Amino acid sequence: MVRRGLSPYVTDRRIATVQILEPRSVRRHEAGPADLAAGLTGRQVGSVSRRGKYLWVTLDDGRALVVHLGMSGQLLLPDPGSPDEKHLRVRIVLEGADRELHFVDQRMFGGMHVDDLVGDGAGGHVPVTVQHIARDPLDPQFDDRDFSRRIRSRSSGIKRCLLDQSLVSGIGNIYADEALWRSRLHYDVPGERLTGPRVSELLTHVRDVMTDALAEGGTSFDSLYVNVNGESGWFDRSLHAYGREGEPCDRCGRPLVREPFMNRSSYRCPTCQRRPRSRV
Ligand SMILES: [Zn+2]
Repeated sequence: MVRRGLSPYVTDRRIATVQILEPRSVRRHEAGPADLAAGLTGRQVGSVSRRGKYLWVTLDDGRALVVHLGMSGQLLLPDPGSPDEKHLRVRIVLEGADRELHFVDQRMFGGMHVDDLVGDGAGGHVPVTVQHIARDPLDPQFDDRDFSRRIRSRSSGIKRCLLDQSLVSGIGNIYADEALWRSRLHYDVPGERLTGPRVSELLTHVRDVMTDALAEGGTSFDSLYVNVNGESGWFDRSLHAYGREGEPCDRCGRPLVREPFMNRSSYRCPTCQRRPRSRV
């Protein structure tokens, strides 16, 4: 979705100017803001890729501009002539393009830097920063069998696995709860207790949830509002589990419960998603 939104506007364009309005948004670029701006100016942009909360564009000097979206970061291609966004941090002007590329970030956990590319083990290249991040389940090169094998070798709970960026990316707390509800799985079921078909079923639900969410965020993407996280465009009415404490389960009618989980919350149906038996 993101690539479709961004590529037509940036690929093969040359970067005319880079204006860094907030130095903290480029703090990961160790050589500093001036070096980042100088390094980008005049470079031609190649392909656009995404992995988890990272998005990057390749540059004609063999490196890549890496954008980490953090909690609230967005790459926007605002309508020409529209006023600057309140939290605009970096403005990139492309030669011959009618739209500027804006990095907007309210909470400042995100940022951008230029990074070297390394082999990704599948014939392609990824920025060094992104090497340790697994592909997301909608990535055509996502390896289902490898994912299943790795999940089934883990003793940790399945939700913890789904949120582990080294196993799979792109699944946030909301997506995880929704996919687990659809799969009738408790979040604490150890990965090693799942059969291969059960992991496949879970993966199907994960993909359905992500696809639904992206489809519902469609208006956002249509207006070139690029949000890799995808969750913000998802409306409450689509949710079966997340945020529905005390409301009836859409399957069995029992009230859903909320439980603390990794400094956040997990929502589940106490009937459809029973707690696993403890190990003896
Ligand atoms: Zn239920």
